[in-house]
Amino acid sequence: MKSSIQFLGGVGTVTGSQHLLKINGSEILLDCGLFEGKRDEAYQRNLHFDFNPPFLKHAVLSHAHIDHSGNIPNLVRQGFHGTIYATHATKDLAAYMLPDSGHIQEEDVKFVNNINKKKGLPPRRPLYTKEDAFVSLEYIKGMPYFEYFELTDGVRVSFCEAGHVLGAALTIFEWGANSSRRRLAYAVDLGRPNLPLLRDPMIPQDLDYLILESTYGGRFHEEISLAKEKIGTIVKQTIENGGKVIIPSFALERTQAVVYILMQLLEEGIIDKIPIFVDSPLAADITEVFRAHPECFDNATKQIIREDQDPFGIGRVRYIRATEASKSLNERTDPMIIISASGMCEGGRILHHLKNHIHKENTTILIVGFMAQHTLGRSLVERKPSVKIFGEKYRVKARIEIINSLSAHADQNELLDFVRGADRHLKGIFLVHGEPEQSAALAERLKEERYPVYVPRQGDIVALE
Ligand SMILES: [Zn+2]
Ligand SMILES: [Zn+2]
Repeated sequence: MKSSIQFLGGVGTVTGSQHLLKINGSEILLDCGLFEGKRDEAYQRNLHFDFNPPFLKHAVLSHAHIDHSGNIPNLVRQGFHGTIYATHATKDLAAYMLPDSGHIQEEDVKFVNNINKKKGLPPRRPLYTKEDAFVSLEYIKGMPYFEYFELTDGVRVSFCEAGHVLGAALTIFEWGANSSRRRLAYAVDLGRPNLPLLRDPMIPQDLDYLILESTYGGRFHEEISLAKEKIGTIVKQTIENGGKVIIPSFALERTQAVVYILMQLLEEGIIDKIPIFVDSPLAADITEVFRAHPECFDNATKQIIREDQDPFGIGRVRYIRATEASKSLNERTDPMIIISASGMCEGGRILHHLKNHIHKENTTILIVGFMAQHTLGRSLVERKPSVKIFGEKYRVKARIEIINSLSAHADQNELLDFVRGADRHLKGIFLVHGEPEQSAALAERLKEERYPVYVPRQGDIVALE
């Protein structure tokens, strides 16, 4: 019987990953991510599926980032009642990530409906609610890494380490026998060697097909080891000036990675013992999920735990959930480090910290993650002289420092090394999860090395022979 892959989302863009794999008559959805873009377009694209959710029986979730998992509650709301396979850590992370996304959907619709009311337009329903998100969690089934399981008749699946975020899997699909045996790897997203806390990405062998991300298909990252050095220098200088270091950070992975680096700097005596706060209830919850999954850590982190140290700074780092405790930070004038979300400064408590400190010359705003276009974070990266926070204009007097080396996505060299490390007998490499110029840059390099590479468009179906 024929097999094929259809590319339904996360092609020509980095959000909304969603692909439909058909093997011997069985349909398997790879990821069900939220597309992010202009509000109305995003709402429509996320609302409608190109397949019939009640008839779909199997889905596989690569990791808990919202651009891969964030449309699951809507899938379930529209009648899906099959099984979504993920690693145990991804399942546990989704238990916080999806309800948080549901809350954001509800808030966003309130904002839209206020405008619609003024225009005399009918109110809109949220894409899904926090409650829908809780319901959808029941359909996610946790599986261990590195063990094949039979997903459906004749289709075996194994989760390997993707080295991207906690729980992220590079998923191998295997079907057929002897000369008709086929192996496909879904490497979206693919991480990098030497990221704090995580094991390095595994390179699968003997592949026929590879679906590969290309977020940084044409770019190169700085060495990860530089991050520690830079953070150390920046923190030291800011403390000497009596200021605060404010770090906008994604709640999943980047926060834990930054805390891990700060703990090393303290341990090695490079920075002084000053108060460190993680001011984000979501980051606090997610750090608890990290603690519950030491099986996902690299050897260096396991060694730290064996030596009775805590990579997440227990006793040294204060994780703040209560709003009052968060507000009280603003009254303090002593040097400190505040790590807060949202990562791109589009909402959340980070906005209060920025509002209160952006005009102070002895404050440092330390950027450690990707800032998309049209976000407050991007305005900071571009060093705009003034920015708007809660609708008011503020002059930027704080020092802005940018660290690019902590990216959790493979760059061009790392993507090429990954492909070269896999088999030379690949029948097809499909580049997804990238802006067009990034996918094109990687495709060009792969073609130079004579790999059969394709950059699919939205809706394309390719036969897997
Ligand atoms: Zn990701
Ligand atoms: Zn992604």
